[in-house]
Amino acid sequence: EGTINRIAAGEVVERPASAVKELVENAIDAGARRIEIAIADGGKTLIRVTDDGCGITEDQLPLALSRHATSKIDGSDLLDIHSFGFRGEALPSLGAVGRLTITSRVAGGEAASIAVAGGEMGPVKPAALNQGTVVELRDLFYATPARLKFMRTDRAETQAINDVVKRLAMAEPFIGFTLRDVSGGGEGRVTFRAEPESGDLFDALHGRLARVLGAEFAENALKIDAERDEFMLTGYAALPTYSRGSAVAQFLFVNGRPVKDKLLIGALRGAYFDFLSRDRHPAAALFIECDPHKVDVNVHPAKSEVRFRDPGMVRGLIVSALRHALAEAGH
Ligand code: ADP
Ligand code: MG
Repeated sequence: EGTINRIAAGEVVERPASAVKELVENAIDAGARRIEIAIADGGKTLIRVTDDGCGITEDQLPLALSRHATSKIDGSDLLDIHSFGFRGEALPSLGAVGRLTITSRVAGGEAASIAVAGGEMGPVKPAALNQGTVVELRDLFYATPARLKFMRTDRAETQAINDVVKRLAMAEPFIGFTLRDVSGGGEGRVTFRAEPESGDLFDALHGRLARVLGAEFAENALKIDAERDEFMLTGYAALPTYSRGSAVAQFLFVNGRPVKDKLLIGALRGAYFDFLSRDRHPAAALFIECDPHKVDVNVHPAKSEVRFRDPGMVRGLIVSALRHALAEAGH
């Protein structure tokens, strides 16, 4: 079991940022309104995610750490990619390659905690906590020295964690996010904060994009709201006059999850083609919502690639929606 978990872990958790992604996605799934992330040394020595979500009951704590014991599949919703995560792999994987402690409390229940290190699970113990969950991961990959060697500098890992948190924050504008670097000890330093946004989805998204990408992006952003064959495309795309220099700002989400996909990025370039120059890249945050059966998101457990059943149609939707918005804005 320990070995299997460590092998599986390598697939799910490539680096500290992938651990952060899994833990924050769990907090989102738990219905959190606020999520706090603390990291130290690029996430190598500490990643702690605190949420005010539904919590885990005492008797479920050991199950949460068992492979494929996820509460999120019942067979019928295997394809329901609105629930994040490579089904039931994340916590067992993290517990196999680091020192993991989960403390949790459900409404009306008592707080309890459980620890697992190198795949060895300890007993459930009483703890103190308000409603929600704290997952603390220390010394990632200490149990797999070969993996440790592949980690990059603290600075590079911190940057990757920043990117992951910002992408998730864009996808969930109604949730508040705080990212803190506690490398120096104590309260640490807040490196990113976004208060929960309010209003309708477009208001909230606009506010959140201003927070994450900057006021200048938000001021130069065109609202995108289009539909084709039950594929919904929403979000904001910047005017071609807006430039972030070489800093690429292309944020794409499929059914709420951040993706990095060549087809989608190509479509974006296609829509802006007439306006692009060497120092000008399209900047956009676009959200595709579709029937989960029409897209395969499990191309790889790290999940950033997707495969659409009809890629041509999706490309067409993006290109025409963006060109339409650009034309409306007089371009
Ligand atoms: P998955 O997310 O695919 O179900 P995980 O290994 O990430 O698998 O999590 C295992 C289970 O632990 C989840 O199904 C959920 O029941 C529980 N869980 C994990 N994190 C949280 C959290 N922050 N709040 C509430 N429950 C959680
Ligand atoms: Mg998960």
